[in-house]
Amino acid sequence: RKFVYDFTEGNKDLKDLLGGKGANLAEMTNLGLPVPPGFTVTTEACKVYLDSGHEPPALRDEVSAHLDDLQARMGKKLGQPDNPLLVSVRSGAKFSMPGMMDTVLNIGLSDASVAGLAAQAGDERFAWDSYRRLIQMFGKTVLDVDGDLFEEALEDAKHAKGAATDVDLGAEDLRQLVDTFKGIVLKETGREFPQEPREQMDLAIRAVFDSWNGDRAKLYRRQERIPHDLGTAVNICSMVFGNLGPDSGTGVAFTRDPASGRQGVYGDYLQNAQGEDVVAGIRNTVPLADLERIDQASYDQLMQIMETLETHYKDLCDIEFTIERGRLWMLQTRVGKRTAGAAFRIATQLVDQGLIDDAEALRRVNGAQLAQLMFPRFDEKAAAEQIGRGIAASPGAAVGKAVFDSYTAVKWSRSGENVILIRRETNPDDLNGMIAAQGILTSRGGKTSHAAVVARGMGKTCVCGAEELEVDTKRRRLTTQDGTVVEEGDVVSIDGSSGKVYLGEVPVVPSPVVEYFENEGRVSPRLPLEGPAGAEDSDDLVKAVHRIMAYADRVRRLRVRANADNAEDAARARRFGAQGIGLCRTEHMFLGERRRHVEKLILADTDEEREEALRTLLPLQKQDFVELFEAMDGLPVTIRLLDPPLHEFLPDITDLSVRVALAEARHEQHENELRLLQAVHKLHEQNPMLGLRGVRLGLVIPGLFTMQVRAIAEAAAQRIEAEGDPRGEIMIPLVGTVQELELVREEAEQVIAEVRQATGVDLRLALGTMIELPRAALTAGQIAEAAEFFSFGTNDLTQTVWGFSRDDVEASFFTAYLEKGIFGVSPFETIDKDGVGSLVRNAVEAGRATRPDLKLGVCGEHGGDPESVHFFHEVGLDYVSCSPFRIPVARLEAGRAAA
Ligand code: ADP
Ligand code: MG
Ligand code: MG
Repeated sequence: RKFVYDFTEGNKDLKDLLGGKGANLAEMTNLGLPVPPGFTVTTEACKVYLDSGHEPPALRDEVSAHLDDLQARMGKKLGQPDNPLLVSVRSGAKFSMPGMMDTVLNIGLSDASVAGLAAQAGDERFAWDSYRRLIQMFGKTVLDVDGDLFEEALEDAKHAKGAATDVDLGAEDLRQLVDTFKGIVLKETGREFPQEPREQMDLAIRAVFDSWNGDRAKLYRRQERIPHDLGTAVNICSMVFGNLGPDSGTGVAFTRDPASGRQGVYGDYLQNAQGEDVVAGIRNTVPLADLERIDQASYDQLMQIMETLETHYKDLCDIEFTIERGRLWMLQTRVGKRTAGAAFRIATQLVDQGLIDDAEALRRVNGAQLAQLMFPRFDEKAAAEQIGRGIAASPGAAVGKAVFDSYTAVKWSRSGENVILIRRETNPDDLNGMIAAQGILTSRGGKTSHAAVVARGMGKTCVCGAEELEVDTKRRRLTTQDGTVVEEGDVVSIDGSSGKVYLGEVPVVPSPVVEYFENEGRVSPRLPLEGPAGAEDSDDLVKAVHRIMAYADRVRRLRVRANADNAEDAARARRFGAQGIGLCRTEHMFLGERRRHVEKLILADTDEEREEALRTLLPLQKQDFVELFEAMDGLPVTIRLLDPPLHEFLPDITDLSVRVALAEARHEQHENELRLLQAVHKLHEQNPMLGLRGVRLGLVIPGLFTMQVRAIAEAAAQRIEAEGDPRGEIMIPLVGTVQELELVREEAEQVIAEVRQATGVDLRLALGTMIELPRAALTAGQIAEAAEFFSFGTNDLTQTVWGFSRDDVEASFFTAYLEKGIFGVSPFETIDKDGVGSLVRNAVEAGRATRPDLKLGVCGEHGGDPESVHFFHEVGLDYVSCSPFRIPVARLEAGRAAA
């Protein structure tokens, strides 16, 4: 095995072995771009080190051989006193990871070689500046010395000199600073700063290896589901110097605007500076465009190189470069991060430039980005006072009065106020407050904190971990870093997509992408030049979304349906591109005014009373279905018969007991309350989720399901008589065995036959079932004998397969599970492929074996989750069904799965 690769030996596809940075340095080298020579120690070497605690024995010689080669090419030796070769030692894993070791620059400098460097460069100051940087970076990252000690010493030196920035320090100041820094190293580590160049290099390489298992790096990997065994590569790169005076400098650039996708010159440049100075903000950078004036030749060359890179990578790239005395050097490139909007625009721009095709453009965007573009957002043009920034934990734009406890959140929201719940961090006791609030803001915790997990589950805006905000729940106030105080009742605005927190009400604007979908996917003919400022951008964005969506629709195999319970939702879903309804929950039709009829049904003592109640419900149900069939005319509508336990329709047991007790005390009439209370007691269950619900209700309460089937059948007949095209599908929930289904089916068929006869309309209604219990999935082959379709109810299936009660676990221990890395994402958010998914896969096969034309779909939140959609595509479902708002996301992901 080979553990070291010269930059000339690698390429961009070797990221596993060389890490992202190393692979791309090699790629640029081979493109003939000016990259300082160097070599990469592979991730394999790192893995051996991490497994055994020792570098692989062959590594030392391999490094020596490559170093010899590098020295020969450069005509100088590492740390050579009269003319030292200096290198940087740079970490670089396959995925860039916060918490990994930083880069150490200027390795090879020592007391012996600093004068040589000064002589070669003809610049004393530069040599001492480079040396103090080495000791500082090496001390901090390799020797684990507290970095503040160096920072403070640097500040002191500037202070003593009355210097505004580090460039105002002269050679002598820096020489003294080097002495101070060496003193710090000796004091903190008990040993001298290593003078031997090769030892410096080896220690730095090992420190990079070790940093793979740093706490922060490990946590990050768990959260982002990056495997722990990848290891990191280490790049040794000969130094070029941007700190050699005004004709030198360093900069970062993007090949196009990562915010909007527009082509142009984007970047920052800093004269007379090294490495991180640009991003560290120690001095003010100038826009990259200014480089044209400072150094025309380098600027032109850089523009040329950026074009080469874009054409080569066929994508937006970001780059790091350094100019040493008028000579340009490339130090890094990679395919750059971008905003969601830019992702869509860049993808279509690249198609227009002929660099990629439509299928590739579709792969370049994703559902999460589309979802981001669909949230309402704060008006960028509005004046807003930002008071802090945290982690963008759950997207959206929320405005409300600051409250600091759950109780107040609930109380105020009941009286019609919009509130933002602000906590240091949340815990299960905050749940009610979180539900009541428009948004949640915390000063502690990351993406898997309680607040973040629960907010995402509820689809509620959340910013967490805004650490510079001091939350004082006792005094009900929040203090910003600059001392601004936000009291309870003050209005704040939080942006869950950017993590920004504002004081006061920031106006919210609807998303142009949603307007586009509301417009049934038609691009408005608005002329860009006539629109208000910024309209050009959003028109552009909408056009890009339109093009990519059109392509996704063309290639996808999965159909996309909506979960919708009423005509209004159905109509919106249709505008958003739904190809039918995959789940209409009939329980929503039993609420409000109708609740009292349901009460009567439950309280009925005699057959007559019960039939009477059902008779009142029938026409109401029928009308619901007529409207639904009309809104979805010509498309399938899957109607689920009543699913939840009946007690959900009765008053709360405590309320009722109080009412009964009060009435008794006042000697008032309370016969009805008493009956209700008895019924509630009778229906009370320890685990309602596993109790009398779904098909069990249909089998135990005579006439309930048949009433619903009759309502569906009569509604369908009425639509046909009105020349409509209703495509009803009757779905039985919570079936565990085929016998249950057969019994319900028999009754249903009889009712349908009766309606057929009575109306003379040739009715056709499909009958199928949900697969949402493990037993149903395991006996799917049998169940398919009585079902014309399956709809996987993955919410309940996840609950029953894991033995999780969703309502309880998400708020209680999921945070701990996520933090411990037991799963990277809640199985209610993304389908658990290994467990729940394997049941789905088997049920699909068994079902189709029994009935080849069995129609297969999924309803439940997973139907709109990007990763899950890919899974459903892969196992061969016919459709996914999700909430209307998620439909575009599902369409896009279904396209990506097929592209
Ligand atoms: P990061 O991954 O944190 O960006 P890098 O390895 O890219 O770390 O290095 C940090 C900074 O040092 C960057 O600005 C980079 O351009 C600069 N740098 C790295 N190696 C060299 C080198 N050989 N010569 C000059 N500057 C370098
Ligand atoms: Mg870098
Ligand atoms: Mg269910």
